Amino acid sequence: MSIPTLGLVGVGKIARDQHLPSIAETGTFRLAALVSPEGGALDGVPTFRSQAEMLAALPDLDAVSICTPPGVRHELAAQALRAGKHVLIEKPPAATVSELHDLVEEARAAGRTLFTAWHSQFNGAVDAAKERLAGARVRRVTVDWKEDVRRWHPGQEWIWQAGGFGVFDPGINALSILTRILPGKLFVREAELLFPENRDTPIAVTLAMSGAAGSSVGPVEAVFDFRQEGEQTWTIAIETDDGTRMELTHGGTRLFIDGAAVLAEPDTEYRRIYRRFGRLVEEGAMDVDAAPLHLVADAYSVGRRRATAAFHW
Ligand code: NAP
Repeated sequence: MSIPTLGLVGVGKIARDQHLPSIAETGTFRLAALVSPEGGALDGVPTFRSQAEMLAALPDLDAVSICTPPGVRHELAAQALRAGKHVLIEKPPAATVSELHDLVEEARAAGRTLFTAWHSQFNGAVDAAKERLAGARVRRVTVDWKEDVRRWHPGQEWIWQAGGFGVFDPGINALSILTRILPGKLFVREAELLFPENRDTPIAVTLAMSGAAGSSVGPVEAVFDFRQEGEQTWTIAIETDDGTRMELTHGGTRLFIDGAAVLAEPDTEYRRIYRRFGRLVEEGAMDVDAAPLHLVADAYSVGRRRATAAFHW
């Protein structure tokens, strides 16, 4: 069987850092085209200014990977599905929950794969944590997701515009790990969202979450902060009823149990993502996880909003 062809839409930081190397290394797809409004090119790969141009020029293309900011994702993904392409979407999978549910309907109608690629879920340490928590009672969870926006998102104005998610852009990765590993559903009970007075999206968020009354998931406290200088922290600490302390650090790539390292993997998230996308396409299956996006929407619903100092790059 021939290798399916893929067009990569949005050639920014994540496309260059992770998607392009992973497509090349896994060989699951053949990179057939790029879409870049600014025309950023890669030797030997045809580059188009819009996805519509690419779809018109390459009618036999099998799949697309959408690596743009989330605001334009729904329109692009729906267009690609209607053109009969299999679609991988970066996180967050859409600007709103309704858009994501609409994409599921579009994918069903088109009979094509839709894959919400939550990259933080694709870590061996996350799988190991999920296995250990199966059937456990979780006493308490603390999430610290604190990074320097100037270092990780330099000049990305979209992140501060309405629909750009602000600090939820990294924070949703922590939520994608929690919803994957915890042995029960999670609800946002209270939230505080801190908005710089000159921006539309939050720079810091505190969430108080928990499972349903009587469920196996106790209080979950999360802090997301874009103002972290010095050491960067992406840590989830979990205490179970038997007194075990589990810690997922470095964005879910390392697992510690009672202080002892049990698993540390090099960065393999995106290679695993492309292998999974290849299998889904082969099997004609979908993989859509809406839970992390629901929690962000819920935080906006029940959260208190506060203003803080203006943010300048
Ligand atoms: P970025 O560097 O700003 O890149 C986004 C790219 O999308 C830009 O090159 C932009 O092109 C392009 N684009 C915008 N609208 C487009 C359209 N209609 N058609 C085609 N291309 C379009 O952002 P990023 O950091 O790569 O993030 C993109 C997504 O990946 C976000 O959802 C983010 O959450 C996710 N992500 C990022 C990281 C990370 O480390 N940065 C990690 C994991 C996931 P122009 O510049 O020409 O407008």
